[in-house]
Amino acid sequence: MEIKLKHLTKVFPGNAKKNIPDTTAVNDLNIDIKDGELLGLLGPSGCGKSTTLYMIAGLKSPTDGEIWFGDEDVTHLTPEKRGIGLVFQNYALYPHMTVYDNVKFPLTNLRVEGPKKATKIIDNLEIIDLIKNHSKEIIDIILSSTYKNKLSKDASARKLVYKYHIVTSQAVRLFKLGLQYKKEEELNPYIEQVINDLTLNNQKIEEQINKFGYTLNEKYEYVDKDDVVVNQKRKLTKDEIDALVQETSRLVQINEYLTRKPNELSGGQQQRVAIARALVKKPRVLLLDEPLSNLDARLRLQTREEIKRIQKETGITTIFVTHDQEEAMSISDSIVVMKDGLEMQKDHPQEVYNNPKNLFVAKFLGTPPINVFNGYIKNNSLYIGEEKILTSDKLTEDKEVYIGIRPEGFSTGEYVKDNSKVLTLNVAQIVTMGRDMSLVCKHDKFIGEDIKIIIDSDIKVTIGENKFAIKPNKIFIFDGKTEERIYF
Ligand code: ATP
Repeated sequence: MEIKLKHLTKVFPGNAKKNIPDTTAVNDLNIDIKDGELLGLLGPSGCGKSTTLYMIAGLKSPTDGEIWFGDEDVTHLTPEKRGIGLVFQNYALYPHMTVYDNVKFPLTNLRVEGPKKATKIIDNLEIIDLIKNHSKEIIDIILSSTYKNKLSKDASARKLVYKYHIVTSQAVRLFKLGLQYKKEEELNPYIEQVINDLTLNNQKIEEQINKFGYTLNEKYEYVDKDDVVVNQKRKLTKDEIDALVQETSRLVQINEYLTRKPNELSGGQQQRVAIARALVKKPRVLLLDEPLSNLDARLRLQTREEIKRIQKETGITTIFVTHDQEEAMSISDSIVVMKDGLEMQKDHPQEVYNNPKNLFVAKFLGTPPINVFNGYIKNNSLYIGEEKILTSDKLTEDKEVYIGIRPEGFSTGEYVKDNSKVLTLNVAQIVTMGRDMSLVCKHDKFIGEDIKIIIDSDIKVTIGENKFAIKPNKIFIFDGKTEERIYF
């Protein structure tokens, strides 16, 4: 299911008396989420992620804008009508119920549209008797309905079917008559005519039906000449419920624990039960609000892999809210980075990492985080302090800038090819971690405490001053005022 957010906005009203201003939690958000995509909504606390998710779920109503599921505008639908599965951070399973019953719970009152046999299929002679015996009431039902719209036509037909067990085609036909003849005395002869018709053989009835221009209502269909199936809202059968619970439990791999109570499960298993509970109704969209934040580090890793697998297996369009950039990067097909209710950037996680649009996005993604320096552009060259880092024709405007360099963007020793373009850093600490080394460095133009560098452990580095070359694809320049990216 494709999801489109169009100019989605949410303003929480303030309180003038208490001097509380309005809060624009979500500000003109335009996002297209492809069918089957897992989208990570990422941003710091208070940026509007949850409010966006709750508007998609129907739990909060937008101040402005629209939400579309496929070609259906769901902006004003209730949560139940949207066909969503929702998993909260606090997944709150029912402690007194078994896992089976927890997963089953959303199905208990679920009504599905589906074929159900009319309770009693009766032959023409019985219908004739019924119509004869109840003609007055049948006429009342027909006359009490306004036949102008399809809805009441269906309702009348259903009434007749259930009240008198009249086969649907006959019921439809009766109120067809009612459409043309609205008074009792006018209807009476036609009831007679129906009775006469019914005494003819089936073929004759069909002919008669055709003569009246009767077409089968789409909700009713013949199975064979004596059998009628009614498509209607109904509860699931016990077997259907069991099949769904078993299928979903296998999918999220909790089928071994169905008889246990939630407190007999680990945190990760409990979270999987919550996911099963959200999926069991086969929703069109799965919405996950920080679903891993109550789990410890190891379980988080494991469960996020699980979510990814389940999402790929079901192909369900999923929105995953988190403030953890590593989590969002590892799980999502696409991420939206948000700040103050605004979309900062949307793209594949690696693309956002490799090509941040602004300083906020650059700083938000990456562990260790990007190293940001005060610098400037002068005569087509980029400087940090006195040192020239790079030159480019595209750096046309002399100005103050922020310079971001990813931790993996440094090389030194024999890798410094051009001594006229280096950054000298004071290496304070060297930690070797197998293949890589982690360096902690200092520089007076650095914004923050420590510069963090990840470098190949074969490279020779000494404590104290070292000259570093910067990999051009790992350095980003941002305007000193707007903090927008300057491309070079
Ligand atoms: P977190 O990661 O902390 O959950 P978030 O990004 O999900 O944050 P939201 O919960 O969407 O942020 O909140 C966005 C902004 O809207 C915040 O400034 C918050 O204070 C404000 N806000 C949220 N709910 C209400 C409310 N009911 N009334 C007033 N302001 C609200």
